[in-house]
Order: sequence, then structure tokens, then C-alpha cells
Amino acid sequence: MTLTASSLATTAFDLGPARALSCRECGHRIPLAPEFACPECFGPLEVAYEFVDVTRTSIEAGPRSIWRYRQLLPVPHDVQRHPNTEPGLTRLIKADRLAAALGLRSLWVKDDTGNPTHSFKDRVVAVALAAARELGFTVLACPSTGNLANATAAAAARAGWDSVVLIPSSLEQAKVLTTAVYDGTLLAVDGTYDDVNRLATELAAEHEDWAFVNVNVRPYYAEGSKTLGYEVAEQLGWRLPGQVVVPVASGSQLTKVDKGFQELGSLGLVEPTPYRVFGAQATGCSPVSRAFAEGHDVVQPVRPDTIARSLAIGNPADGPYVLDTVRRTGGAVADVSDEEVVEGIRLLARTEGVFAETAGGVTVATAKKLLEAGQLDPDAETVLLITGDGLKTLDAVSDRLGPTATVPATSKAVRAALEGRVA
Ligand SMILES: *Cc1c(COP(=O)(O)O)cnc(C)c1O
Ligand SMILES: [Zn+2]
Repeated sequence: MTLTASSLATTAFDLGPARALSCRECGHRIPLAPEFACPECFGPLEVAYEFVDVTRTSIEAGPRSIWRYRQLLPVPHDVQRHPNTEPGLTRLIKADRLAAALGLRSLWVKDDTGNPTHSFKDRVVAVALAAARELGFTVLACPSTGNLANATAAAAARAGWDSVVLIPSSLEQAKVLTTAVYDGTLLAVDGTYDDVNRLATELAAEHEDWAFVNVNVRPYYAEGSKTLGYEVAEQLGWRLPGQVVVPVASGSQLTKVDKGFQELGSLGLVEPTPYRVFGAQATGCSPVSRAFAEGHDVVQPVRPDTIARSLAIGNPADGPYVLDTVRRTGGAVADVSDEEVVEGIRLLARTEGVFAETAGGVTVATAKKLLEAGQLDPDAETVLLITGDGLKTLDAVSDRLGPTATVPATSKAVRAALEGRVA
């Protein structure tokens, strides 16, 4: 069936500026629907838009959350608001002390620990839920490496929906508790994230009213990551940075930050200046970094073994598109050891006062490595995406951090403990 412009305009769903789903592989278009795979070639589907009347002024007049970009997202015109618990518009921190430590001239840290459940996943879940409601789903579900579990269970609780969250049984205790507290259904599955993901795909086919945010409503979910790109540009005063470093799990976030930058440029909301996109992985789960280094277009799946569990996807759905994006923009993908991840967490904390989870450690450490390798330009304006909160991955640092000293309650003992530490 071929679709004319008019048949696309009369879609049954109000998903704002979204007009169709289009296949990333073959370009085939279908009307907006709860679909995620191309009926022609099984390639992943992506939202296609027709944007109207988007201006800096209309965005700036909007809510102080991701919904200020509603005109650029696949959500209903009257998207349901939860004013005090909406994700987005997190801090963009001028990171001068980290810049000096790394040897960068101009550096910003996008601090997404400030979202309702302390990771960037609140953005994608909010968009997925809004689209899922319009598409007729009634249960919010996901397979998760942790942060998505938190965000899905919390968003469902807020909206009064049931949730079904699947996690690998090896997940950090903190991420289990911070999901369970929202009182949805939480299933710990014996297996890796990739096993859990496969199970979710099976369950999505069996339960028509379950919206697995990152499986059967993935095309809509993924668009939520564009808001990171929009915010960085708006917070820089409506400009694009010269280079951005993004942690890579499935790879969706990286490709959508790029999509967000491109849309702003083509809509005339920013000058379409060139920028480079860099991907960051942990060596213990670095299938995309390896493919980049070896010059491959396909990503060979791996079995993850790293403390960066939020990034531990061994078979990343968007891996090939990450490779396309970094190659097209002149960036790179690199990976760092768990030791370097912990160093990255500590460097960010002691220079900027921001406590990131392991994914943030991956980003900081990878930026350091890319600089040392001459791949990041020390003179270009740089943004690091810090996507999750260190309080959720205390295990990663618990055996290396503690009190400077444990002392009796006397000033003499304190003096002895301070010896050589304080000027
Ligand atoms: C999920 C996640 C990512 C990566 O997201 P993808 O879009 O799957 O690449 C990055 N950081 C944190 C903290 C995450 O939870
Ligand atoms: Zn296709």
C-alpha cells in the first residue's frame, strides 16, 4: 500500500507533529500505530514528522520540563501533565574545574541526575507513556538494566497505571529497591539483560495491552532522547556545541541527540554548525567500540562483564546507527576499564561536586581517553552527558571510599588525622 500525504494526515491517533512511522533500513512508511518493526524488511521503525510553527519563543514559553518541546515529540497535543514530577530541563553546568583537570578549553556537564528518578530514562519513559496512552495501551512494561525499571515503575505509579518490570536477577540492590518501592510488578529473571530483552519481546506479542516502552513502543520511546539535544542547545543560548560525549548502551540515546541537533538546525532554531558525536562504553561491554575500532558496520554481540551495568547491553539494537552517526560527524567510539570508570566517577565528584553513577564514570573516563588519543579537540566546546545518579550504584565505589580516618572525640586526634592534609 502506498500512502499519500492526505491519507497520512488523517491518522487515527493524535501524536502531535508525528505523521507516520518510517523504516530506518528501507524507508517504507506506515501510518502511526503500535508497531516497531517494518512489515517489509523487519528493520526498526522511526517516527516521521511534519513540524508546524515551532519557534524559540514558543519553546521558551512552554513548561520547565521536556514538554516545552512537545511540538517536536510524538505525543498528543493535550499531553497529560504532572507538573511537579516531569523530567527535563536539568542543569547544564559550566565545568571549569573538570575542564582544567582534563585539559579542555570549554566544557559543560549536562547533569541528568536531576530527573524524577535520577536518570535520563525519565525522559524516554514520559514520551513512551504519553504515546502508549494515545495508542490504547493500559499497562506500562519494560525489560531493564536498572534505570529504566525505576523510571517505568515511577511513571506508571504517577499515572495510575499497572506496571510490569523485568530485570536481570543480578541487578544492583539499590536499583531493585528503588523500583520495588513504586509497588508495580517486578520480576527478577535469571539471565543477562539480553535474555530479559528477548523474554520481553515474547511477552509483548502475548499481551496486547502491555506497552513495553523500549520494545513494542520503542519508536516513540526513543524520541524522548532528542530532548537532551534540544536542552543542551537551548541552554547554550540556542547554539550547538562543537563535540558531545554520550554513553552507549542500546545506542538509542546517541543517535537521538544527533537527530535533535539536526532538527534544530533544519528548523532554523540554531545555526547548523558542525559538531562531532562521540560514544562511550565500558570495556567489559564494548561491542560498538570494538566495531568502530575494527572498521565494521555490524556489531558483534558480547556477553557483558562490567560494573557499568546500566550500559551492559551486549547486543545493542542501535549499534549500527551509532557507527553511522559517529562516522558521519567525525567522532569516535571508545571504551574504558572498570578501574577507569571508578576514577571517572571520582574525578567528576572532586572537580564539580556531581556524583554520577557508573555510566557517568564511563563518559568522563572516555572523554579523558579520547583527549589523550587526540580524538577529542581540546579547543572545541564540549558537552559530557551525565545520565544517572551515583546513589544508585554505590556498590561500584563502596570498597574504595570511606572516612579519611576514624578518630576518638578529641581535638588532638583530629589534629593527628589532619596531619599533612589541610593547608
Ligand atoms: C540506559 C542508559 C544509557 C544509555 O541509553 P541507550 O539509549 O540505551 O544507549 C545511558 N546512561 C544511563 C544512566 C542509562 O540508564
Ligand atoms: Zn523496511
